[in-house]
Amino acid sequence: AIPLVVAINTSLAARNGMLVRDRIAMEQARDLDTVVFDKTGTLTEGEQGVVEIEAVGDVTQNEALALAAAVEGDSEHMIAEAIREASAERGVTPQNATGFEAIKGRGVRATVDGEMVYVGGPNLLSQLDSEVPPELTTFADRAGENARTVVYLVRNDEPVAAFALADVIREESYQVVDALHELGIEVAMLTGDSEDVARAVAEELGIDTVFAEVLPEDKDKKVSELQEQGKLVAMVGDGVNDAPALTRADIGIAIGSGTDVAVQSADIILVQNNPLDVVRLVKISRASYRKMQ
Ligand code: ADP
Ligand code: MG
Repeated sequence: AIPLVVAINTSLAARNGMLVRDRIAMEQARDLDTVVFDKTGTLTEGEQGVVEIEAVGDVTQNEALALAAAVEGDSEHMIAEAIREASAERGVTPQNATGFEAIKGRGVRATVDGEMVYVGGPNLLSQLDSEVPPELTTFADRAGENARTVVYLVRNDEPVAAFALADVIREESYQVVDALHELGIEVAMLTGDSEDVARAVAEELGIDTVFAEVLPEDKDKKVSELQEQGKLVAMVGDGVNDAPALTRADIGIAIGSGTDVAVQSADIILVQNNPLDVVRLVKISRASYRKMQ
């Protein structure tokens, strides 16, 4: 039989828009030490669009966009969508690309006009061991200070352009961090994005711990690191990449609008897609626990 108090807090949770798949996780929420949030799409709205382009040498901005949109033609990543949209808005026709390949947590590549072309972040550049032209470094530094995500276009092993994408912090994220702190819970952020962007968002929100430039296969290890410090950890995420970390966390919480894989890996699903429900979850768990004594 289900203990009455558990049944009560589960239905209370349901009424607050939370789907509880694991009741033990719901009970454990009262003792949480740290909540780890994925950045993109969880604390932020998701990539909003390409706001600036820097092209080097004889490459024009529109040529860079045509190439990048071609390489991103097959990708479902939010960055890919933003680049394809920017190319459409400017009336640029993407070139023909073949042999699409995703490079997990780094970017994508494809063959265009017999050349291998890549689009990806800083960790793609380090993997390719490419030398970045000073114009692109300056551009990326400035973009990073403004919390903009930068991806590079690499042709023939040479970075030839960079794109800055603007994302927006969700209104609720400010309240979530403050409310969790009031409950005595630490807040961490986990992202594949660059140190610059991660630090800017963390400072803006008052987040305690930042894990940036984390590859998808390493995200769950960051959760383990916190657990090894004796912490009871919740992870909140929405993406395919977040699934192992959601599984590893003591409490895995998926944003309801997230990918199926994330939702299936979670103990609790926030049906209303509102990160503030994490705070409600802790409060319901604590209130139920007090009733039990
Ligand atoms: P997160 O969801 O934490 O931002 P991802 O693993 O999805 O992390 O992506 C990490 C980084 O890899 C991105 O910030 C970007 O630099 C790069 N990246 C991933 N996919 C793409 C893509 N389709 N196009 C360009 N860059 C990409
Ligand atoms: Mg995400």
